[in-house]
Amino acid sequence: DLPTIYAITPTYARCVQKAELTRLSQTFLHVRNFHWIVVEDAVEKTPLVTNFLRNCGLIYTHLNIATPEDHKLQENDPNWLKPRGVLQRNIALKWLRDNLDVDNKQGVVYFADDDNTYDLKLFDEMRSTKQVSVWPVGLVGALRYESPVVHNGKVTGWFTYWKPERPFAMDMAGFAINLQLMLKNPQANFKIRVPRGYQESELLKHLVTMQDLEPKAENCSKVLVWHTRTEKPKLKNEDKLKKTGQQSDPDIEV
Ligand code: UDP
Ligand code: MN
Repeated sequence: DLPTIYAITPTYARCVQKAELTRLSQTFLHVRNFHWIVVEDAVEKTPLVTNFLRNCGLIYTHLNIATPEDHKLQENDPNWLKPRGVLQRNIALKWLRDNLDVDNKQGVVYFADDDNTYDLKLFDEMRSTKQVSVWPVGLVGALRYESPVVHNGKVTGWFTYWKPERPFAMDMAGFAINLQLMLKNPQANFKIRVPRGYQESELLKHLVTMQDLEPKAENCSKVLVWHTRTEKPKLKNEDKLKKTGQQSDPDIEV
């Protein structure tokens, strides 16, 4: 049996949300044995995401948990990043641990943020993950790409400018985890308060050492995922239109 890929996507309401989820889902529709775990950063599940998921054609699980206001970054807290998707990814991991059988289900866990760009070949690469597999990520860390450094088929370090001393100096998009390994280590989670750039290390330190990592994408020589970020659209003419007595139809979902 082909192992199932469980892709965990935190998402939050903003004017590009439906566009992001559309692009993402229409990539994922091309991936076999795929289960999408979508976690809204919201107190309640929204109608937009609920209806979207119902019609997207994928096998999915819809969860929600709000990032509390008081956990957001204060101005004189420079070493602590406002958590983005942290509680959402954790609740998805909890769902996997509560709902899937240890020793039964073969699978792979991947953290797929809603704004990145994914080559379908990435899913072929991660499918065979025994423990934790790794690959380069494009357009991240203020570089063309960041990547594990591979010598003789083993990861020996990190190609990154920013904080190379991190135990696992990789972006969230740059690794996948064997499902059984994830289920057997319930202490492996993200933390709401870790130094900036250390979320990935916080999780992975419970699961593997650098020597265990499995390089994919031709020994980390191919970029198959890009840390793209979507420009915030300008909506300033909405207000101007109102002054002329017109408005866009609020019943048209964007
Ligand atoms: N996210 C979220 N709540 C927020 C901000 C972000 O759930 O308040 C999600 C977002 O939709 C994405 C992930 O967390 O799937 C990472 O956020 P983002 O892409 O903004 O982070 P960056 O790429 O800038 O590190
Ligand atoms: Mn992003």
